[in-house]
Amino acid sequence: MSDFVLFLVFVSACVFICCLFKSDKRTPEQKRIDDAADAAKNAEINRKLLIDTYGNLNPVMICPHCREKGHTRTKEVKRKKGVSGAKVTGAILTFGVSMLATGLSRKEGLTQAHCDNCGATWDF
Ligand SMILES: [Zn+2]
Repeated sequence: MSDFVLFLVFVSACVFICCLFKSDKRTPEQKRIDDAADAAKNAEINRKLLIDTYGNLNPVMICPHCREKGHTRTKEVKRKKGVSGAKVTGAILTFGVSMLATGLSRKEGLTQAHCDNCGATWDF
């Protein structure tokens, strides 16, 4: 009886190992085509992500970091500019009433730029 159990274990182990190795049945040519399609898809996703994060390429802008033209993306952004001194004073004078209304940080509309060539990101 125990021999039979051992045999069963052996067979299931074989089936398991076979399943692990047979998974990729594609021909090398098909595999190459699929890989190329995957790479194209990833490149497209990356491109969209770059546009999402850094905006569209600006063909005339020159990167101040690497001096390359046409690699810079620009995008309108809102930045919190830290705690505003005037507002802190206002908050103390009005016992925090103005703070409730406006918050302590200023928000500024800026242009964020990112260079694809050297990877620098800056605001102006
Ligand atoms: Zn650059």
